[in-house]
Order: sequence, then structure tokens, then C-alpha cells
Amino acid sequence: MLPATDTDVIVIGAGVAGLGAARALRERHIPCVVLEATSRIGGRAWTAYPPQLGGMWFEMGAIWLHWAERNPLVPIARAAGETLLRADELRQKRTFVGMREATLSEYADYDDAWDRYEAIADEILAATPDAPLAAVADRRSDDPWALTVEAFEGPVICVAEAEKFSLRDWRTNVLGGSNLVPDGGIGAFVERRLGAGLDIRLDTPATRIMWNGPGGRVSVETPRGVLSARHCIVTVSTGVLASGALRFDPMLPVATQDAIAGLPMGLAMKVVLRASGTDRLDLPLHCSVDRQITHRGERLMPFQCWPFGRDYVQGWIGADTAWALARDGEAAAVEFTLTQLRSIFGGRVDRLFAGGTRLVTRWDADPWTRGAYSWVPVGQADARRRLAEPPTDGHLLFAGEACHDGFAGTLSGAWISGLDAAARCIGG
Ligand SMILES: Cc1cc2nc3c(=O)[nH]c(=O)nc-3n(C[C@H](O)[C@H](O)[C@H](O)COP(=O)(O)OP(=O)(O)OC[C@H]3O[C@@H](n4cnc5c(N)ncnc54)[C@H](O)[C@@H]3O)c2cc1C
Repeated sequence: MLPATDTDVIVIGAGVAGLGAARALRERHIPCVVLEATSRIGGRAWTAYPPQLGGMWFEMGAIWLHWAERNPLVPIARAAGETLLRADELRQKRTFVGMREATLSEYADYDDAWDRYEAIADEILAATPDAPLAAVADRRSDDPWALTVEAFEGPVICVAEAEKFSLRDWRTNVLGGSNLVPDGGIGAFVERRLGAGLDIRLDTPATRIMWNGPGGRVSVETPRGVLSARHCIVTVSTGVLASGALRFDPMLPVATQDAIAGLPMGLAMKVVLRASGTDRLDLPLHCSVDRQITHRGERLMPFQCWPFGRDYVQGWIGADTAWALARDGEAAAVEFTLTQLRSIFGGRVDRLFAGGTRLVTRWDADPWTRGAYSWVPVGQADARRRLAEPPTDGHLLFAGEACHDGFAGTLSGAWISGLDAAARCIGG
């Protein structure tokens, strides 16, 4: 083991939260070392160039800069001269009711359903501290779109089952505004723009964090040696924290352990099917497809079809179904996706996708993430705030998407939580 090396702040993880913290510290000239387990930066912002898709850029994880008007990464991207594509305006939308497209009045009713849904959620939360997300649709069983909104907001967007998911956490973090996509991919943007000039040690997993030491110093063990510092900011996912793969010595206080248990990881799985024929399912290029959900238990798999004119469709499935498909394997995920497409477009999808290449994302199998992002069970809506609270003397801090209330589960939440943790180091 190498002798302990000193710095002011050690950041564990070079995802967006860790990069945010390190940049904020660098701006204040505070020495900081970022330890990253893998051989790349960006974490769940990862643009890959898979051979199955002919080497085209593809987002394995995050795609959009949500709520662009309030997203702190948007001004950074603009200042750096990045081209930000207006995803909402470029994309056309198609909604199906069974195998036919929705009528104009159904589209209008569906559009309004989101406001109706939020209004009921507010009514429920005015009367009770928390409830499951499912309580909203239960109260509006006469609304033909309530279960579709529920399927989107629960399993699809928040990777959580509606019967278990905290309505209060959902309402705190529901996103508005517009979505932007950096041209060439968000992961590539993060790598190009957010890591520059930082002291990042790749392939250096932290294995044990010794905190509460003399003078409040923190030491971090890695296979390459020990590092010690005044502060340590831990930005790994709650999946990694809950797994015990990163040990804390002494153990974390019960309150922190409870907060981690209150932030389980959900799973989102992307399944990409590349067309082998010329049929484009009568859809415009760069089009999103969803369908009406009429009973609970029916799964919604929205599709991005022919994104940027490419020759594939990309389905997204979340929560328990994604975990089940992950257990059953990639062939099961592909068959599930084909079944979803058949239910809208019929047997032509088999001809179209027979022989085309496939790609299935596997965040479940990534040991440095262990899922896609965190969700909050009913009654645990303060878990994010509790995790962001330093356990004792402020020398050990947590940041990351799970720690933010307002932009939870997103790049912006991760980034802001990193800045907040850095500010605590600067102040303390
Ligand atoms: C499929 C998918 C789609 C998404 N879509 C969007 C989207 O469109 N828009 C959006 O805003 N957000 C989206 N997100 C969420 C967003 O990607 C995350 O919220 C954000 O990237 C989390 O950043 P983070 O820094 O908190 O964590 P991470 O990105 O997970 O960073 C943590 C880092 O810690 C490293 N690490 C783990 N253990 C150790 C260790 N022991 N030692 C050292 N390093 C370690 C990891 O390798 C990782 O690099 C999506 C996520 C997924 C998975």
C-alpha cells in the first residue's frame, strides 16, 4: 500500500455530481482529487458508439437536458458553444388507442390529462402527508387517460411502480419546461466540457472510507493506495451504497443508513431494434410513439422511432418489468419489445426487424451503478434531504442524483447536489 497522500477534498465518483463538486472547488483554488472506479468519466451520462448501430452515437443513459429554462447545465453548454437540439420541436408524437391512432379530440383530452392529474395529486397531498402515486388514478377512474399518465410518471419516467411510489416525492420532482439534447450526445458533452482541468484518477475505485478520524480527517482506501483529506464527498449511487461494496469505517449512522434504504434504485432498460427493411411503420422520422393504457398492470413501453432519421426504434421500459426482463435476459427483452410493437402495428414488425441488430442497455449489471436512478417509497419523501445531510461533523458528505429535491434522478439534480456539497466544504 502506498503512503497516504494528502489533499483538501476527495470526491468519490466522476459522474455529473462529482464533476460539479470538483469544478466548484477548483474555482475556489481548493485542492481536490476525484476517484473514479471506471476508465471513463460521466457515470450515467454515457455516449457510446455501438457497432450494432453502425457506430452512430447513442446514449446508454441520460438523453435530455430536462427543463432547459432552469437547468444549470444549459448555460454551461451554451457558453462552451455546444449545439443544443430542441428535442420537443424536432420530435413528432403519435398516440395509439389499441391499433388505431388517437383522434384529434382524444389527443386534446390526453394533453389536458396531465393538468387534471397534477390537480388531483395536489388535492390528495393537501389532506395527507403522503400516498402512493396510484391514489391519483384511483380517484379519477372515469378519466380515460389517468392510467396512461400514471404509467408514464411512475414506471416509465420515475422507474417506480405506482402502488409503491411516493406521491409527495413525485410532486416535488415533477419536471416542466422544454428538453434539449446536445448534438453528438450528452455523455460526450459531459466528457468534453465538464471534466477538463480536474485531477481525476480513473480506474481507481474507493473500497473503504475511514471517516471521523483525528481532526476530522477522512482517509480513502483504493487498490492504488490511500488518500487522506479534510473532506470527502461521496457521489456513488444509492445502489452502490446499499450494496456494501464501498465500506465505511466506522459504519454510517443509522439515520444515513435509513436514508439510503429509503432511496432504492429503479431500473430503466432501453431496447433498440434496427430495421432490416425499408418499412417505417407509416411514422414520420424522429417520432415518439405511445399508447393508451386502460387497466393497471398493463405495461407502457414508449418508443423513439427513427430518431434523427436513423433506421431503428428504441423502446423504454422501467420499474419491475425492467428488473424482471433483466433477470430473464436480453432475448426476453427483445421479445417483450416486439410484442409491444405488434400490439400497435401488427405482424409487419416481425418482417421489419427480422435479422436487424439489437441492443439492450444493462444498468442492472453495472457494478458501479446497480440500477438506473433512485426512487422513493411512500412515506420516505424526506430521504433525499436526509442523505444530503452530513452524518456528523461535516467531513463526510453525500451528493448525487438521489440527494436533490426538485430535480431528483436527473443530471441537473446531480450537478446542483455536487455544488451544494462543495459549498459545505468551502464553508466548513
Ligand atoms: C437509462 C437512463 C436514462 C436517463 N435519462 C436522463 C435524462 O434524459 N436526463 C437527465 O437529466 N437524467 C437522466 N438520467 C439520470 C442521470 O443520468 C443521473 O441522474 C445522473 O447521471 C447521476 O449522476 P451522479 O453523479 O449522481 O451519479 P453517477 O453518474 O452514477 O456517478 C457516480 C460515479 O461514481 C463511480 N463509482 C461508483 N462506485 C465507485 C467507487 N467505489 N469508487 C470510485 N468511483 C465509483 C461510478 O462509476 C460513476 O462514474 C438517466 C439515467 C439512466 C440510467
